[in-house]
Amino acid sequence: MSADTGPARMEREELDIIPIAQPVMGKPEEDAVLEVLRSGHLSLGPRVPEFERRFAEHVGSTCASAVSNGTTALHLSMRAAGVTDGTEIVTSPFTFVATANAAVYERARPVFADIDPVTLNLDPAAARAAITDKTAAIVPVHIFGYPADMVAFEALGLPIVEDAAQALGARHHDGPAVGGRGNPSIFGFYPNKQLATGEGGMITMGEAAMKVRVDSERNQGRAPNMDWLDHDRLGFNYRLSDVACAIGIAQMDRLDDMLAARARVAAWYRDALAGLERERGLQLPCADGATHDGDRRGWFVFTVQVPRDGLSRDDVINALRARGIQSKPYLPAIHLMSYYKDEFGYREGMFPVAEDVAARSLALPFFPQMTQAQVERVSGTLADILS
Ligand SMILES: *Cc1c(COP(=O)(O)O)cnc(C)c1O
Repeated sequence: MSADTGPARMEREELDIIPIAQPVMGKPEEDAVLEVLRSGHLSLGPRVPEFERRFAEHVGSTCASAVSNGTTALHLSMRAAGVTDGTEIVTSPFTFVATANAAVYERARPVFADIDPVTLNLDPAAARAAITDKTAAIVPVHIFGYPADMVAFEALGLPIVEDAAQALGARHHDGPAVGGRGNPSIFGFYPNKQLATGEGGMITMGEAAMKVRVDSERNQGRAPNMDWLDHDRLGFNYRLSDVACAIGIAQMDRLDDMLAARARVAAWYRDALAGLERERGLQLPCADGATHDGDRRGWFVFTVQVPRDGLSRDDVINALRARGIQSKPYLPAIHLMSYYKDEFGYREGMFPVAEDVAARSLALPFFPQMTQAQVERVSGTLADILS
């Protein structure tokens, strides 16, 4: 039988669903997990410091602490930066909800400021205007992997926590990799991220003293070498298992290849969507160096903003789904979520740039193993829908 050639095969491929994301997992990860299982040392074992060391080396930070996910990484980083009851953080409303939630865990107020329409990152001028005498920290997010303008934020003279969960592999125009400037910076390893462990997170830091505090707070407030029955501060169980760290180490070995593959897929998309950008006003992710020559994106998602004068973003998502292509609204503005409206009094109209972008943006299928044929099918389908 020749069922795998000719029109029949093409027809079947047409029907194949293209997922929005897909982790790269293989033999090295399987072997690493088995090794941990057979060792019997499933938590607080040797894989944790090894993963931390490898990760810190990659971003060029003094040290790093592995934690249970990106959200707990944000929580411990904010505590370490001095975010407490009655204080405020200044951050972007155009980010994953965890960025703001982590401040609320400490009963601090998330104060939003509008974003830059090109990079979609927190606008430094807007952030400065939002500072009050209660501001404990500025929390820039490197959204969609594009480096935030850290030189401008650092000039504000306040503690900083960087949400780098989407930006592994990105680099700043003044030299450091994202996460390597010394500010506590957080990463997450959910399966759609550049590096995946299932669940997992990392804090990179410039000060060893901060790591001592974070390592204690992730482990019930236990000091290093302290008797396990005594605790000299409040802590949590935010530990990452040796099984997850072993997967993380195996992923570190192939990280550069996975990042290069993502950049290649992004370049295919840019080519395939150039016509729609020019003729229909579809907005693509900004190019590297859009605001500062030398800034480089670490590719996480490929998001586009639909033109203002045609089908709505949600109509486009539904039409893509009907043709076997997954996509999703990405990201919704946090200040318009019910909890943030009810609890903090946020309303529509407060951050017009973020609201406009959030209403029009969607994430297309994007993962390292994506083929050029898949990119072309997504792009061609999008062109059909928009024309
Ligand atoms: C993924 C992500 C996080 C962390 O999420 P977890 O699911 O808790 O690991 C935090 N901030 C942003 C912007 C993210 O994209």
